[in-house]
Amino acid sequence: MATPPKIWLSSPHMGGTELQFIKEAFDTNWIAPLGPHVNGFEADLQHFTGVAHAAALSSGTAALHLALILLGVRTGDEVICQSMTFSSSANAIIYQGATPVFVDSEPETWNMSPSLLEQAITERIKNGKKPKAIIPVHLYGMPAKMNEINLIAKEYGIPVVEDAAEALGGQINGKMCGSLGLFGVLSFNGNKIITTSGGGALLSDDGEQIQKARFLATQSRDNAPHYQHSQIGYNYRMSNVLAAIGRGQMQVLKDRIAARRANFERYKKWFGQLTENGFHFEFQCEPQGYFSNRWITCIIINPEKNKGITRETVRLSLEAQNIESRPLWKPMHRQPVFAGSPFFGNGISDQLFENGLCLPSGSNLSGEEQARIFSVLKKIFRKK
Ligand SMILES: *Cc1c(COP(=O)(O)O)cnc(C)c1O
Repeated sequence: MATPPKIWLSSPHMGGTELQFIKEAFDTNWIAPLGPHVNGFEADLQHFTGVAHAAALSSGTAALHLALILLGVRTGDEVICQSMTFSSSANAIIYQGATPVFVDSEPETWNMSPSLLEQAITERIKNGKKPKAIIPVHLYGMPAKMNEINLIAKEYGIPVVEDAAEALGGQINGKMCGSLGLFGVLSFNGNKIITTSGGGALLSDDGEQIQKARFLATQSRDNAPHYQHSQIGYNYRMSNVLAAIGRGQMQVLKDRIAARRANFERYKKWFGQLTENGFHFEFQCEPQGYFSNRWITCIIINPEKNKGITRETVRLSLEAQNIESRPLWKPMHRQPVFAGSPFFGNGISDQLFENGLCLPSGSNLSGEEQARIFSVLKKIFRKK
């Protein structure tokens, strides 16, 4: 029997106008890491997020790195980072020669626990070093408890770099993810809710800092007719061709969010039906006033509550049908490369990683693909 076509976890979904924007870049020969589409895309991002300034960059990782440089993070410093995240949030800390201090999650949003954050800050201060920055993450599009985190950050005078790479369109009480810290970081990697095939952005209301980010991102070229440099620069700017894709994607962002949220509701309905067969599932909570873009729908399958069925049972059954799913992100405190970094834990991210599965969540999932996914789930969680 022929293998059925692949269903991806989260694949690019073009809106239709991207090629027109790209054609414009070609017609005007703006094939460079600057140009009208870069400016236009930055304006689109500012308008959407309500943040005053945006710098379009080559990746979300570059945005994180520049934020830490702008905050003066240097060798020997410590930076607090959510443990339950993608490695890039922590890598940027290492790029600066600093040490990540990992903080575990709270059970509702799965993001940085405010109480453990405070504990981490006070203990590191007692240890002789005040952390230089705090990096909370809005995992799978769900905003972290930013009001609580910002209060603690303010009390101790530590700046917040919001890793909103997965959360464009997420909100707390109408305020957009990316606008909730001193700096906001976005990613337009191929698997994100909108994509430029690869790219990112750094957001801030501090125009001077964003201007400085643009300077650093274009090799720190001083104002001179020759190439003159007074500090180390980076090649981190977004190309005008990729920004063209971004402008097209911004036109459909609201539809993409609606489609991802519809995926979540559909999974919730399906798993709700399966609980009638005696099974038990958990989802990421959306607290009162919170709005997730539901970038990826994740499910928690505790084998003790599911007749021994594990998330691996489900992952492998889906894989057998050429359907991609993936365990939840493995926490940073359990990554070999970060062994030895301080960690303030409560067991939550360990449990999430043990039992959590990311389900196919593309905004382009067809009805037929949805039916294939549900038929696999129905076979696993049968009435016995
Ligand atoms: C994707 C992602 C990043 C990195 O973005 P890139 O554009 O791939 O460099 C950073 N943090 C989180 C949480 C992400 O999911």
